[in-house]
Amino acid sequence: MKIDVQNLHSGPVTITLDHTSRYFDLGGEDYQVVDNIRGELTFSLIRDKVLMQGILQTHIRMDCIRCLEPVDLYIKKDVTLYYIHKSEEKGKEDVINLEGIESSYYQGLIIVPDNDIRELILVELPDYPYCKEDCKGLCPTCGKNLNTGSCSCQKEGKNSFPEGDSWKNTLKNIES
Ligand SMILES: [Zn+2]
Ligand SMILES: [Zn+2]
Repeated sequence: MKIDVQNLHSGPVTITLDHTSRYFDLGGEDYQVVDNIRGELTFSLIRDKVLMQGILQTHIRMDCIRCLEPVDLYIKKDVTLYYIHKSEEKGKEDVINLEGIESSYYQGLIIVPDNDIRELILVELPDYPYCKEDCKGLCPTCGKNLNTGSCSCQKEGKNSFPEGDSWKNTLKNIES
């Protein structure tokens, strides 16, 4: 995907995305992209910078970290990113002064946003995906998914601490 910056002098350019995850080199051991990367991005020239603005969306599948069942996540991201010409890099202050808007660099007269699009989607992936907020996870003993019902080890677990109340009695004795 290429944006010719010279074309932006005559007005903003909008591109429509509908690309496979492979195109953006997305997908890994801990997540799958199960839909195309779709969206619309508008590039406009603002003084000496190029503003990329629009929306990105796709569907991602990850495993719930508690029960390991697949979780489908709908990613929808508003994108605002400044492209700064590489020759301006020495004025690093510029980047900080862009009112908190993320920025990237381009060289020559062509912007290739592919890598930035990839990064923008990757930062949306949760570190700890859950199938639901109150996921009960797997029994550490038998591995049963506790969302589908309890297992017999839980009861046995209680029995393995027969003198569970004895420390409370001891404490009472000390206090009295
Ligand atoms: Zn879960
Ligand atoms: Zn169990």
